[in-house]
Amino acid sequence: KPRALNVVNISGANERNVHLECNIVLLGCRGAGKSALTVKFLTRRFISEYDPFLEDTYTSEEVVDQQTVLVRVMDTADQNGPVNPERYLHWANAFLVVYSIDNKKSFEGCCHYLDIISQYNRGALHENPVLLLGNKLDMERYRQVSKADGSALASRHGCLFREVSACLDFRLVQQVFHEAIQEVRKE
Ligand code: GDP
Ligand code: MG
Repeated sequence: KPRALNVVNISGANERNVHLECNIVLLGCRGAGKSALTVKFLTRRFISEYDPFLEDTYTSEEVVDQQTVLVRVMDTADQNGPVNPERYLHWANAFLVVYSIDNKKSFEGCCHYLDIISQYNRGALHENPVLLLGNKLDMERYRQVSKADGSALASRHGCLFREVSACLDFRLVQQVFHEAIQEVRKE
């Protein structure tokens, strides 16, 4: 298992030029908004129609607390719950488990992912941080999952909890990804 953060000296000369790497995977039911959040984070734009079958990994250089971090984001596309979790369990340094606050089923679907991660973390050298994300905060009027329910599920699994929206303020989405990186760095 790789270290939580791989420290690579990019210039080979300047000590201050250390380069950190962080792999983040987004998990959750189809339609929760994983791709929309990924695209928002990477481009600051909201793309409303995104191929629901497309699974890909993207790279971005982020500055977090004055340090440059090479961030890889795996946007998964499970169609009916977790399939073949090995592809990200060993790879990821942090997990973002996403549901949609206007869809109770998507919330229930998170439990499978949280269970798999908890089980994996128990046997691992490092506990990889997990963030439970209630997405589509702009759909408040159609809310089916209360903030208290989200928060309770997160604390049962010892993870952080945030509510966001892929179509509102970019900074809030960026903050969530940066928080994941900061959590990894804490280890
Ligand atoms: P994924 O299957 O988890 O990757 O979900 P997508 O990112 O493809 O999003 C599924 C649908 O939800 C799309 O129609 C998106 O436009 C919509 N969507 C995603 N995020 C938000 C959001 O924050 N607010 C609203 N209102 N719609 C969203
Ligand atoms: Mg998708």
